[in-house]
Amino acid sequence: MRNTILVLAAVSLVIAALCGAALGGQASPMASERAAAAGPGPARQLRVIAFGAHPDDCEIRVGGVAAMWAAQGHKVKFVSTTNGDIGHWKEAGGPLAQRRLREVLAAAKVLGIETEVLDIHDGEIMPTLENRRTIVRLIREWQADVVITHRPYDYHPDHRYTSILVQDAAFMVICPFFCPDVPHLKTNPVFMYSSDGFQKPYPFKPDIVVGIDEVMDRKLDALVKIESQFVEGCVSGNESMIPKNDTERAAAHERVRTNFTGRFAAIADQYRDKLAELYGQDKGKAVRYAEAFELCEYGRRPSAAELRKLFPIPSTNP
Ligand SMILES: [Zn+2]
Repeated sequence: MRNTILVLAAVSLVIAALCGAALGGQASPMASERAAAAGPGPARQLRVIAFGAHPDDCEIRVGGVAAMWAAQGHKVKFVSTTNGDIGHWKEAGGPLAQRRLREVLAAAKVLGIETEVLDIHDGEIMPTLENRRTIVRLIREWQADVVITHRPYDYHPDHRYTSILVQDAAFMVICPFFCPDVPHLKTNPVFMYSSDGFQKPYPFKPDIVVGIDEVMDRKLDALVKIESQFVEGCVSGNESMIPKNDTERAAAHERVRTNFTGRFAAIADQYRDKLAELYGQDKGKAVRYAEAFELCEYGRRPSAAELRKLFPIPSTNP
């Protein structure tokens, strides 16, 4: 597992260096330098990193907008902060962690993005100094413009502590003498929360809602790669849920697609007013599927206009 992760990290760095060279002849320019070279607006290549607690969280909450960013030439990376090694009713340990890594690598290939799984046990991540350093290094190495994670109000301790760790990194990434082995960012990224349905102490309140209709099929194609969770029932499954042949597998995939279709349609309906505000009344009403994001106060605070430009929302609308 560790070797695989190191190889993935090395590949990420090589690709980051190549992208930097293509942009401005520098191996790995700082975010502020890239911004100064290319100016604001959707034409500039963005670098986005999303942290989910398990190998499926980013794919569910960010998979659509990630595919849209990738299609526009932006660079997106998903990080699962735990290896998912207890996330099944029948399997556990190293073999499950390896299976879940394979699943998110397959999903990332469909979405056109990179992915990494940290070798921390599922159910055991804590907001430690060591883990804060890990998150800070990952954000810096990716040269992130946008960072996305869970809100800290969530049912799962791994979700909550992943959120805390990313929030704790929001200032540290620009501090030159914190983890000086990886150069600090000169421009603080924008930090965003992905959506959830929890009401206490505060309900999720989106600043950005992105219509994902054009990539919905691709997102569903990615999600059905994660069979251990969505086909086999995660921790609540049973033997009858494991497909025994191709016909059963195809039927199971169809059920997964139908369930997620309803989920992303519900997000569009729930935040219809925000869609109308961002896309205009007619286009906002026509959006069928959506993902929603809320600005975290701890990173850079862009204006509403700048925030909108960071996301794949047509700029010609009001
Ligand atoms: Zn999770």
